[in-house]
Amino acid sequence: MTTSTRTTNAAAFAAAQAVIPGGVDSPVRAFGSVGGTPRFMAGARGPYLTDVEGREYVDLVCSWGPMLLGHGHPEVTEAVHAAVDRGLGFGTSTLEETALAELIAAKVPVERVRFVSTGTEATMTALRLARGVTGRNLIVKFAGCYHGHSDGLLAAAGSGVATAALPGSAGVTEAAASETLVVDYNDRDALEAVFAEHGERIAALITEAVPCNMGVVEPAEGFNAFLREITARHGALLIWDEVLTGFRATATGGWGLSGQVDGWTPDIWCFGKVIGGGMPAAALAGSAEIMNHLAPLGPVYQAGTLSGNPVAMAAGHATLSRADDAVYAALQRASDAVREGLVAALDAEGVDHSIQRAGTLFSVAFGTSGTGVRDYRDAQAQEAFRYAPFFQSMLESGVYLPPSVFEAWFVSAAHDDAAVQRVLDALPAAAKAAAAA
Ligand code: PMP
Repeated sequence: MTTSTRTTNAAAFAAAQAVIPGGVDSPVRAFGSVGGTPRFMAGARGPYLTDVEGREYVDLVCSWGPMLLGHGHPEVTEAVHAAVDRGLGFGTSTLEETALAELIAAKVPVERVRFVSTGTEATMTALRLARGVTGRNLIVKFAGCYHGHSDGLLAAAGSGVATAALPGSAGVTEAAASETLVVDYNDRDALEAVFAEHGERIAALITEAVPCNMGVVEPAEGFNAFLREITARHGALLIWDEVLTGFRATATGGWGLSGQVDGWTPDIWCFGKVIGGGMPAAALAGSAEIMNHLAPLGPVYQAGTLSGNPVAMAAGHATLSRADDAVYAALQRASDAVREGLVAALDAEGVDHSIQRAGTLFSVAFGTSGTGVRDYRDAQAQEAFRYAPFFQSMLESGVYLPPSVFEAWFVSAAHDDAAVQRVLDALPAAAKAAAAA
């Protein structure tokens, strides 16, 4: 490899573009909606990232969620090293899988956990399972909710798809899209109408526990309980996507803000991100009755060469077992301080905005102070053009924000006062840049 000449982000990006489509393995990394040169990271420690030019940034992406404890937490690193020493993978069952499944089942009310490698696989398998259990075909999803890039779930998805403003994706057949019914988030009447018309053919409703891929969108009071009720009423399953929010929004994820409070549980849970501690691991989970429809016990097929990889299981187990009350208190403290600083800086410059929150997660939407963001339409109608100059100013000041306004901001338990202060110091100039846009 001729990596010695790739000592700038520009040179690294040029080299990547010559051999990787767009130079990236996930579109949002290309900085398409914020412009400028994507940063190529060379390392990370605690709340900080270091790029190939040796510049340090406070990390407000945290690998898009997994780094709950910050980068290079000693307990996670030790567990991973020990797992590596035992072997990278065996293609057999290992003790690590059972241990992580037990840990998850101790934190949220699930009886069986099946590990896969990505959130996409978790939700894709959850749909197949729901169809297998109910013998029905249709899936209901919300516009702006992102559940990974499997065909049927790319209808009106958020995240990178929202950024690119694509209706879905080329290559998704009409047949795949036609079995997905898309409804506006927070719209009870639309859901009642869809279930009234198609109820007997709906296998499942899939929702993010709290939508975070069109920016954060807070469920209206009682909305998630309504989802539980309407699915049960029509014999459909409720698929609860906690890939992003799980063990991050609160100690019990987005469920900690709704079902746990109101005393209900979804039928199939999807996890990812935090449960892999930065390594590729995800899962679907639920009652034994539902989960036992999966092969080898049941007729719904699912498999994976790398599923339950022991190194990934070790990283996830070390992360989740370290995630005690003090960790979530630290996360909330850092999140509150950054959010309050953001509001103060934007207010000082008269930048119209609203903040949407879900426990330790939040996001900003410009030009939305009147109504906030209730659904995908509101998210798309915001003054998104203010984000690029805001982002670039923060980056220049050494703060790495999500390179899209349609994403949540992520902190970690390692974001101490010094790291938070660097963010607070950077915000006034960025707010000025947003105001001038
Ligand atoms: N569901 C949600 C809610 C997500 O946020 C994501 C990824 N951001 C996914 C599913 C897909 O996960 P992955 O990228 O691991 O495939």
